[in-house]
Amino acid sequence: MTPSERERYSRQVFFPGIGEAGQEALLAAHAAVVGCGALGTFHAAALARAGVGRLTIIDRDYVELANLPRQWLFDESDAEQALPKAAAAARALARINAGVRVRGVVADLTAANIEDLLAGASVILDGTDNFETRYLMNDWSVSRGVPWIYGAAVGSYGLTMPVLPGRTACFRCIYPEPPGGVQPTCETAGVVNAVTAAVAALQVADALKILAGRPEAVQPRITTLDVWEGGIRQIALPPPDPDCPACGRREFVYLEGKSRPPVKLCGRHAVQIHERPRPLDLAALAAALEPLGRVRANEYALRFTAPPYEITVFADGRAIVKGTDDPGVARSLYARYIGA
Ligand SMILES: [Zn+2]
Repeated sequence: MTPSERERYSRQVFFPGIGEAGQEALLAAHAAVVGCGALGTFHAAALARAGVGRLTIIDRDYVELANLPRQWLFDESDAEQALPKAAAAARALARINAGVRVRGVVADLTAANIEDLLAGASVILDGTDNFETRYLMNDWSVSRGVPWIYGAAVGSYGLTMPVLPGRTACFRCIYPEPPGGVQPTCETAGVVNAVTAAVAALQVADALKILAGRPEAVQPRITTLDVWEGGIRQIALPPPDPDCPACGRREFVYLEGKSRPPVKLCGRHAVQIHERPRPLDLAALAAALEPLGRVRANEYALRFTAPPYEITVFADGRAIVKGTDDPGVARSLYARYIGA
């Protein structure tokens, strides 16, 4: 450590759980944050402040006004410009800690790009809002032996669980299939910023133990909490299930998926279209769409408004169609305005 690092991180060095060796390990470590919303912005800010040397931040979405009550890294100008969250986060983190190397990736995590995006990370923090991406992360984590920390929150309730391959049950041991029926979402049930911060802080604590070289300090437990009505509960994780398709039979079906269908976005009245990567010239697309509706573009994304719809297109061909929950409608709007 340089003298300035020694001063900056002195309170972590004094803390026996981290110490000098732990801080050196943090400075050399690489963590990935998947999903940069309420949980992910907290993860990224906390890890950057703690001095984790490299951060990869992956997010497919852009900043909106309704994110600001709980997404700690973003401000009103980010929402006004509809900046992609990964880009806005990278910019904010550079102001928090210039010593951290941040890779902000504006993309959906898929089977096709997961190896490129996560390789080299020693821990993955879950800031996503959907089971499909979590199963994909779990497959990658179990197959590569890299731990990940699950987290979720809605309303005032949240939960978190560490997945330590070879030691604990994995995510598919606990949730063999996605939950059926209607699940509460942040749109139907709302969400309180205190619970997302609490869940994210517990995830960060486990990540710091792993990155500081103290993985044995991670307790194999599921933690549930309710910041409004109840307290905190912890139950021991069961042992790994020998019949689990992922960690038992080592069948990584989510890693083998080649394409993804359009997906409804949690609580957004929006659908994401991303069937295959197709690089787009956003300036040319802006010129083509100008006569048809309102167009705003920056270097990352283009937003086209044709009421009641709003289509945000990214340079890799992915789009978020707002104003519908129907993948068919979204697909036809994409074909009409962007091309089939
Ligand atoms: Zn398992």
